[in-house]
Amino acid sequence: MSELLEGSAAEIARDVNARRLSASDVTEATLAHVRANDAEVGAYLLVLDDLARETARRVDQRIARGERLPLAGVPLAVKDNMCLAGARTTCASRILEGWTAPYTATAVARMLEAGCVPIGKTNLDEFAMGSSCENSALGVTRNPYDLERVPGGSSGGSAAAVAAREAAIGMGSDTGGSIREPGAFCNLIGFKPTYGRVSRYGLIAFASSLDQIGPLTRTVEDAALAYDAMAGHDPMDATSLAREVEPAATALREDLRGLRIGIVREFKLEPLGAAMKAVYEQAYRELEALGATLVDVSLPTADYGLATYYLIAPAECSSNLARFDGVRYGLQVDAGDVATMNSQTRAAGFGPEVKRRVLIGTYALSSGYYDAYYVRAQKARTLVARDFAQAFGACDLIACPATSCPPFTLGAKSDPYSMYLMDYYTIPMSLAGIPALSVPCGWVDEGVPLPIGLQLTAPHFAEPLLLGAAHAYERATQHARKHVPRTSAHA
Ligand code: GLN
Repeated sequence: MSELLEGSAAEIARDVNARRLSASDVTEATLAHVRANDAEVGAYLLVLDDLARETARRVDQRIARGERLPLAGVPLAVKDNMCLAGARTTCASRILEGWTAPYTATAVARMLEAGCVPIGKTNLDEFAMGSSCENSALGVTRNPYDLERVPGGSSGGSAAAVAAREAAIGMGSDTGGSIREPGAFCNLIGFKPTYGRVSRYGLIAFASSLDQIGPLTRTVEDAALAYDAMAGHDPMDATSLAREVEPAATALREDLRGLRIGIVREFKLEPLGAAMKAVYEQAYRELEALGATLVDVSLPTADYGLATYYLIAPAECSSNLARFDGVRYGLQVDAGDVATMNSQTRAAGFGPEVKRRVLIGTYALSSGYYDAYYVRAQKARTLVARDFAQAFGACDLIACPATSCPPFTLGAKSDPYSMYLMDYYTIPMSLAGIPALSVPCGWVDEGVPLPIGLQLTAPHFAEPLLLGAAHAYERATQHARKHVPRTSAHA
């Protein structure tokens, strides 16, 4: 692997802007590495060689004309639930077979405008429903730190690509943890901004009131640069916020002095097992050593998060996925009449987890059950959000685990319930719509060293504070650098 692929997005952009390196060279090195490495990792569903080369040439021309681009020449991996004009877009589902995106998602377009080069579209759990990438109908993605294990999900392909140096920035979407979990599993920063901060236009909807696009990166600085590039109002998304974006890349801190960090009373570390508990206890001490004051906070309704989410998300999914009817997009199974064609197309095109959610969601929304399930879940959601608002009266940030276990072996969690439990720590923040990220905080040994992530979360719009603090933590601890991926093309 070419050494330049070890560079962070910030370093690559610096060199391309200074003309020490061309975007075309970075792109060729990346494409060669993907060819050598990705058969093993399986991060990409589609590699966009021609588009990448053409985009790189245009970036080099812009630089030659004297433009400075914040992400000049940075290889970008795009989760395959985001539209990129002219590229096959699948959501890792058979139902979208043969469908090509007619336009580009705003967040993707902004990354390209900032100088990124799109390397390809990455694997995910079908329609982003899952926590391991194993619900993909189109391929297996492996964790670059142990190829027998999952990369996390649902943005597992983007995470694996960045961890394996097959891209410097991965774009993911997070509905209940799908950026933060794969970030933690792949030794990366996984960052979900405030709901409404990044446009969802061109992101194929799963649960519209929760879905949020964000970056997966190897450094906090890169996450901040990506956020600054992709965030901001978009008239094409009615839920996108008009409020001005405060830049995060200029808010990176060196210490945590003066910050109060909340430790959640209800989030006990014992159930995580001795090894993970020790990692988190050390992480909390490291926060203190950097000058933060740890304070005890309570999220009394956080325990209801999972049940609440697993009603609201399927309810929204059942209505969003109604559009896949065999007429407008992708797959169509021939049948004698339209109704039979609709149902046979959906039966053949959706995988088991998607069908489960459509059924649960339709049931929860049906008359007679709507009040008992959906309306109650919405009320519980309000309580979870209120808990956070109260807790942030006593602290600036909250620290807690990102996942309830280390990356697990492919196939190890076969029942849906144990997979849902994975999201215990990430869902409350999604319900509240607040920004949250996962930052590497240590390793546990299961024969191979496995990365663990610390989750930090902040009030709405406090992205600069959140990323700033994560930067101080990363800089002082350097946990991510302790081990390298174990893929054969690495080194
Ligand atoms: N694991 C959660 C789910 O399956 C979250 C997925 C996501 O954030 N897209 O719904």
